[in-house]
Amino acid sequence: MRFSSPIRLVLYMSAVILLIVAGVYLALSVAGLTIFNWKFLIWFVLITFLFVFIFLRSVMRNYLTEKFKLIYKTIQNLKLTKEEKRNKSLDMSGDVLTTVEKEVQDWAESKRSEIEQLRKLEAYRREFLGNVTHELRTPLFNIQGYVSSLLTGGLNDPAVNRNYLEKTESNIDRMIDMIEELEVISRLESGEMQLDESHFDLFSLCKEVYHHLEDLAKTKNITLIFGADTNLGFFAYAEREKIRQVLVNLVTNSIKYGVDNGRTKISIYDMVENYLVEISDNGIGIEEKHLPRLFERFYRVDRSRSRAEGGTGLGLAIVKHIVEAHEQTVNVRSTQGLGSTFSFTVRKA
Ligand code: ADP
Repeated sequence: MRFSSPIRLVLYMSAVILLIVAGVYLALSVAGLTIFNWKFLIWFVLITFLFVFIFLRSVMRNYLTEKFKLIYKTIQNLKLTKEEKRNKSLDMSGDVLTTVEKEVQDWAESKRSEIEQLRKLEAYRREFLGNVTHELRTPLFNIQGYVSSLLTGGLNDPAVNRNYLEKTESNIDRMIDMIEELEVISRLESGEMQLDESHFDLFSLCKEVYHHLEDLAKTKNITLIFGADTNLGFFAYAEREKIRQVLVNLVTNSIKYGVDNGRTKISIYDMVENYLVEISDNGIGIEEKHLPRLFERFYRVDRSRSRAEGGTGLGLAIVKHIVEAHEQTVNVRSTQGLGSTFSFTVRKA
């Protein structure tokens, strides 16, 4: 026999005891050991039922509370707020067994997804550590090679000593760049970096960035131009310094992965609530299969070209973090051999 709640079980047991008591009374009356009295029987039955019911109910409550207290306490401590805990104590009238079973299942489910999340984080952490180690190893080994060549005679050889020292310096610079960029990413990821937003003119900022990167563009004779209708008067609301960093990274890439005598173009489009900023180049372009992973940290299409250009593989990851911190989006379109267009949105002032 199944009972849908403990209270039904208690009622059933009380009724059984009551029937037994009434049966015993009737048997005693029939045997002539007592005088049968209807009134007495009704009162006796009612009082017995009440006492038995109260007694069994309290025994059952204590038993269940004792049994489930530990499970419930653990689940409640992990799952519920203080207020919820106060409102939620073992309710005997409902199907407490099903309720507890469901609570345990819910709790197990939430633990499972937490464990899954932790596993992902662990894999991410391992991959990240592997990447950092790998990226730092190359410049460190280079430095070790140059220094040991200098110590084993190169120092007194005017044909190589300066060159080796300059190469050592450029490897050290590369490590410093990487560490600084990693610091930026880690601050952006931890949410520790607060945005300091203000109104500013996007076009002026783009001009400033072009001016800053003029010399780099000259090394490949790349022309820095603006799209039609991209002029003063595009007032944005964001952290100017961070949007500057985004523009610097994207324009720098358009030069690094650009072709000699190529061009980089910045265009700004009015999109009702936001502006769309596009940085396009007619450089080497990117094969489609790489596009979905391009914004991952340390992801590079051509490792040796990136290294030769002094890349750390972190520039686009920083771009994505900054744009997303502003609750905006970043995108890329590209055709290998023809060029690439990176775009991002900025809130209008
Ligand atoms: P890196 O320091 O290697 O430049 P980024 O995160 O800035 O790192 O870019 C990741 C990769 O995306 C680069 O290594 C390069 O292969 C590719 N890439 C980025 N921008 C461009 C571009 N404008 N044209 C072609 N490839 C690009």
